Amino acid sequence: MLQEPAPTPLALLLMGREEDLRSERGVSCPGDLPMASDPDLVERARVAKERLGDRVYILGHHYQRDEVIRFADATGDSFKLAQAAAGRPEAEYIVFCGVHFMAESADILTSADQRVILPDLAAGCSMADMAAIDQVEKAWARFEELGIADSMTPITYMNSTAAIKAFTGRHGGSVCTSSNAERALHWAFEQRERVFFLPDQHLGRNTAVRQMGLTLDDCVVYDPYKDNGGLTDEQLRDARMILWRGHCSVHGRFSVDNVREVRERIPGVRVIVHPECRHEVVQAADMVGSTEYIIRAIEAAPAGTAWAIGTELNLVRRLADAHPEQQIVYLDKTVCYCSTMNRIDLPHLVWSLEQLADGIVSNEIRVNPDDAHWARVALDQMLALPAAPTVD
Ligand code: SF4
Repeated sequence: MLQEPAPTPLALLLMGREEDLRSERGVSCPGDLPMASDPDLVERARVAKERLGDRVYILGHHYQRDEVIRFADATGDSFKLAQAAAGRPEAEYIVFCGVHFMAESADILTSADQRVILPDLAAGCSMADMAAIDQVEKAWARFEELGIADSMTPITYMNSTAAIKAFTGRHGGSVCTSSNAERALHWAFEQRERVFFLPDQHLGRNTAVRQMGLTLDDCVVYDPYKDNGGLTDEQLRDARMILWRGHCSVHGRFSVDNVREVRERIPGVRVIVHPECRHEVVQAADMVGSTEYIIRAIEAAPAGTAWAIGTELNLVRRLADAHPEQQIVYLDKTVCYCSTMNRIDLPHLVWSLEQLADGIVSNEIRVNPDDAHWARVALDQMLALPAAPTVD
């Protein structure tokens, strides 16, 4: 008689059980993670949320699955959600349906007695993970040796770890979002003559070239896996923007061919993309902006208009469902979800809520106090950015 093969440890890891001690974060879900096929998941989430009442506040990022977003008390981009958490001091637990760096920001901005929970600790961000703090410290040490660190303002995108935000705060820099990157760069160049932009090279380049009038030659890309970042000393000294070699695995997929193809297929279509897309894609698009900007543009568009949207698919699909009066298509023909964001599914949300309702706090995100202090300095600097200068 054939024996059933024993499940592999890897399969258990993918199910969110067990623990990978070699991984940065592990994927442990102590207790019993419900099966995705459990027909009572929706009811279990509802009951657990009701048991917790005002003690819990659930945040849902725009790129989350529908099954999770339906339970969110607030939806938005990462910074809006961190601010929403800070605006709910009565909530003992913040359940963050997003990725790791977002939960860190919520922990930094909320009070010490609020506890931030990430339902699956393996929900990281490939872009944030492209800038490890030891790599960034090593690059900075090189800039010091070259005598250019003192003339450089570090700016980090919100999509970075707390350690990178803290590095930015320690060196007199600021955090930015995709909505205020231009203001952050104006401010940074007023402080010093160079900018060190982390971790998304595309947001940095697109903002510098499209909105600030810098040239592509003013920007160089620092590759942490190459000696001297893969650059000569002269290139580092001459650059006005040193861009970290990081990118978003979702937005980096869109291509100029996608834009060309959709224009041929849908006459009159407006192409709107996120600034995390590659420079040539942004140049080929009609409109460029953050997720909030894209949502507002679609909401304000006249009925009967056609749109091809270059951002994460969950958001595009929800916009298409909410606006049947418009023709909305995904810019890439290939389906592309943010795979790490999608790790937060209904079984993990149910598991988190039921644990909390039973008084068990698992998967809490706590930033160490020193990093939290300096990351807060960089976040406060962002909030203090002056208004954008008027451009005629
Ligand atoms: S969409 Fe891109 S930047 Fe956003 S969480 Fe996913 S990998 Fe990170």
